[in-house]
Amino acid sequence: MIVLGSTGSIGVAALEIASAFSREVEALAAGRNISLLNQQIATYRPKFVAIADERDLGGLEARGARVFVGGDGICEMLEIASSSLVINAIVGFAGLKPSLHTQYCKKTLALANKESLVAGGWLLDTKAITPIDSEHFGLWYLHTNRAIRRLVITASGGAFRDTPIHAIKEQTKSSALKHPNWQMGQKITIDSASMMNKIFEILEAYWLFGYKEIEAFIERSSSVHALIEFVDGSTTAHFALPDMRLPIAYAIDPIKAAATAIIPPMDLSQILSIRFDPIGLDRYPLYGLKDMLLEDPKLGVIVNASNEQAIAHFLQDRIKFGALSEIVEQALSVFAPRLTELDSYHAIASLDAQVRAWCDELIQSRIS
Ligand code: NDP
Ligand code: MG
Repeated sequence: MIVLGSTGSIGVAALEIASAFSREVEALAAGRNISLLNQQIATYRPKFVAIADERDLGGLEARGARVFVGGDGICEMLEIASSSLVINAIVGFAGLKPSLHTQYCKKTLALANKESLVAGGWLLDTKAITPIDSEHFGLWYLHTNRAIRRLVITASGGAFRDTPIHAIKEQTKSSALKHPNWQMGQKITIDSASMMNKIFEILEAYWLFGYKEIEAFIERSSSVHALIEFVDGSTTAHFALPDMRLPIAYAIDPIKAAATAIIPPMDLSQILSIRFDPIGLDRYPLYGLKDMLLEDPKLGVIVNASNEQAIAHFLQDRIKFGALSEIVEQALSVFAPRLTELDSYHAIASLDAQVRAWCDELIQSRIS
């Protein structure tokens, strides 16, 4: 198999499951954490390796692997590799091109990179995707051919779920990166605190399952990941401890996963304390974008680009937490009226770049 984003939180867990299931790792792609990539190369001995930046070539210990550089390098690597399974665990918009190319190469796309669906779901064969996101794995687990009334996914509430509302705007990265339940990469941890992660996941659910009747609730323990309400009045729920190895194992080998104790079972006595609370817009203003995005999912390109760019500035302590939602909303007001068909990767990448440049200028003007 091939692991893109191998040095990240999902990538490392995917390699752990690959070892447990004795799967050969043919190719790895990483960003700039070359020391961890070198360790992974020593352990897994891949035939192919891709890195994001040619300046890191000097530190790379490829041990005979053929080396590729950049997004186009990943695509070339996908063409040459013979593996049929690609786990895309790259973070951000950089994951879209490899997702498209995985399907172009007729390989199976196991997708953690939810930004691929947010910024380009209409260009992907979404029925052929295996989701690596706890909520979408939960929906897949529960899905039957009975008529569905509504899909429900849960949110932990993120780092600021108990912060006084008036104090949230002034928060900085040190507090935003403290997720109560999950250990994840920096960007998704910030997206969880702002509830953008749930907006992304609602779009992800729309693209994967084809329903627009989707709602999210806060479930603080992250032990219920998804529920399906059926037309007949039944509701089913997926319970599991918060551990991404479960969806990853199913993406790698569903038959082995079902026959293996991947994670311990839940303590059923906890279930009595589970509550589902609505997501308040005073605490999570970005959740207010839900209906607009379901109405016109291509707005996801603008939301994704402005959010990703604003987070990059936030992680450099150039803006406060409250600016994230303001920047996304302003970007939408500027770019949504000019939205075009976006019927190619090139068109999407061009709009993504325009939105980012606009955000940089806006942030610069706010600072100076
Ligand atoms: P991390 O930040 O931990 O990892 C991101 C990975 O992407 C790293 O390997 C990084 O490399 C690599 N990367 C970044 N930019 C590039 C690039 N331009 N080219 C190649 N590789 C690149 O993130 P997570 O693992 O937490 O998340 C990955 C994706 O999975 C995200 O889209 C996230 O939303 C999604 N996801 C994550 C979950 C989680 O529990 N973590 C749950 C559900 C979904 P390097 O570090 O070497 O720079
Ligand atoms: Mg999730």
